Amino acid sequence: MKSSVKIRKIDSYDPALLDLAIKDFLDSNRSSKLSKAKRVLIKTNALGAYAPERAVTTHPAVLEALIKYLLAKGKDVWLGDSPGGSLGFNHVFETCGYTALAEKYPIKLVNLSTSGTRELISDGYPLRVSDAIWRCGAVINVAKYKTHSLMAFTGALKNLYGLVPGMVKTEYHKEYPDTKSFASMLVALYLATRSRITYSIIDGIVGMEGAGPAAGNPRSFGLLFGSSSIPALDLVASRIMGFRINDIPYLFDALHKDGILPSSVWIPTSFRGYRIEDAQIMTAKLSSDALKFVPRFAAKSFKKIYDTRPMVGPQCQKCGVCVKGCPVKAIAWQEDGYPLIDPGMCIKCMCCHELCPYQKIEIKQSWLVKTLERFS
Ligand code: SF4
Ligand code: SF4
Repeated sequence: MKSSVKIRKIDSYDPALLDLAIKDFLDSNRSSKLSKAKRVLIKTNALGAYAPERAVTTHPAVLEALIKYLLAKGKDVWLGDSPGGSLGFNHVFETCGYTALAEKYPIKLVNLSTSGTRELISDGYPLRVSDAIWRCGAVINVAKYKTHSLMAFTGALKNLYGLVPGMVKTEYHKEYPDTKSFASMLVALYLATRSRITYSIIDGIVGMEGAGPAAGNPRSFGLLFGSSSIPALDLVASRIMGFRINDIPYLFDALHKDGILPSSVWIPTSFRGYRIEDAQIMTAKLSSDALKFVPRFAAKSFKKIYDTRPMVGPQCQKCGVCVKGCPVKAIAWQEDGYPLIDPGMCIKCMCCHELCPYQKIEIKQSWLVKTLERFS
């Protein structure tokens, strides 16, 4: 199957440049779904209450260009996500700059956690998915370009996890604790929802490197990506960041399920061979994956020298988000008023790292992991 990915070099969130790029992306999309749809859902990445300059969430300027495009076509526009953690939807959308968009334009903000769900079975996985994607004629998935402590990279496919309502996400982390099973569940989610997603965009104008998806460092990548194929889009975007296909645990499987050969994905000529220099790529799950190749009798000793784990940092604000959000209750309050992670219970899902609103969950790496990362 032939797939194409559009890429634009855009160095700032300049509205005029974004208007042109969004028009180019969507005008060239041949799907009739978007033209026929009366209502369009924009699925943003609203991971938590982060201001746009933190580069954790999709920048409102990208969404604004999209909203203007869709309103000009006479669409009823919904903008939604299901933010993780215990912070309220209104607070998250306000901080991300999305409430201001709803004040400026006639759009509806939709909490995908509370607006109804559908239960289905996909690829053998029982899933609960927001019903909003079936109540809209088309869905445009707008992700952020970031590294990810559990999945290595987060782009268009991982953004679909926001279609799973609030606390159900925590249940899935518990049910699928290792990278492989979580990745297979993500692919099942993709298969269940792909027919509803008309187009996907990745906002990499300012993205995140290092300890993403929330505690990394914003970096101006100056890139905006778009495609009607989610796996092709993630393939190209992750490659440009410096990942190989097998670094992203769900990518090969998702491409295979869509019959896409990596070599057949079309990208603009000027981006062939294009790579971002020295992006900090952090693969926090490297340690547990490596254990699979170690004989059982040696695993315990190996774990001590080859380990990556979350740790509550000294500047913790004692807000309790991590304590509430840990799917296996591995974080408990201590007498000194600070939370502590029980390493024996921790399944390394990295939810605490992702959810901490103050980025005070640190990722601690043993010397061997640090050394290997330096040379990888
Ligand atoms: S402590 Fe953090 S990484 Fe460990 S299981 Fe709990 S949420 Fe996941
Ligand atoms: S580590 Fe973060 S989420 Fe947990 S209590 Fe401290 S500040 Fe809150």
